[in-house]
Amino acid sequence: MDLRNSEQNSEDCSECGLRVYNPPFPILGACLRILLVSDIHSNLEALNATIESAPAHDVVVNLGDVVGYGASPNEVIDVSRKLGNIFVRGNHDKAAAGLMDLTDFNPIAGMAALWTRDNLTADNLVWLRDLPAGPVHLDNDPIDAQFVHGSPMDEDEYLVTLRDALEPLMAYPIALTFFGHSHIQGGFILNARHEDVLKPTYHGNDQHEVFSVPLKKEAQYLINPGSVGQPRDGDWRASYALFDSDKYEVQYHRVPYDIRSAQDRILAANLPPRLAARLAAGR
Ligand code: ZN
Repeated sequence: MDLRNSEQNSEDCSECGLRVYNPPFPILGACLRILLVSDIHSNLEALNATIESAPAHDVVVNLGDVVGYGASPNEVIDVSRKLGNIFVRGNHDKAAAGLMDLTDFNPIAGMAALWTRDNLTADNLVWLRDLPAGPVHLDNDPIDAQFVHGSPMDEDEYLVTLRDALEPLMAYPIALTFFGHSHIQGGFILNARHEDVLKPTYHGNDQHEVFSVPLKKEAQYLINPGSVGQPRDGDWRASYALFDSDKYEVQYHRVPYDIRSAQDRILAANLPPRLAARLAAGR
């Protein structure tokens, strides 16, 4: 698989001239392009399509829920670990690692968490257990950003509506908060007491599409790249995003993937069939 970390696949940045591709740490002062992935949920086919279609980037940040629901937990962890080393843990990561009880999970999610725990390699189980809770910050914080799974106030909280977003936006004087957990691509903006919702719009549902949003330096943002492996905003395509510090913009992406294979693996693993069906509905 093309992990885009070889010399052959690296690129010179047009602005700073650096030849960097997914270095272990962001370089202070350099153009920084962050590939944001979240909620992969053991969907290897969706992760592969994401990697294959992703634009050039310097680092990958993973916002959690690497596992849960899907049937390829070990493969997805192995690929994710090769992509980079900046991770925030999600609630499904905690559940699969045995760090939380399953009382807050619905029965299907709970079954999938137990199946995941039983099928993880010992090494991947330890790796999952050691993932950090958000908020996570980059070394030297070159872009005034924080990375969380749910909310900076509570890693398990869902930020779905503008009302949900206001408290964390006002509580943290940080320009950019990248989050996941809701599986809804988009975000929220707070600018001089004016608040709004960011919602990408697309034209179809069978091709790779990009929706770019220029950001304002004076505003605060909550930005959700959406879910790679189990979108819930009615679009079945894998979701991810690229943040470009030089252009100061976020690019939202949707890309089709081999959904049949992902569904077949779920059924072959005797996971609940509903987990295969919902992928096609994007719910
Ligand atoms: Zn999730």
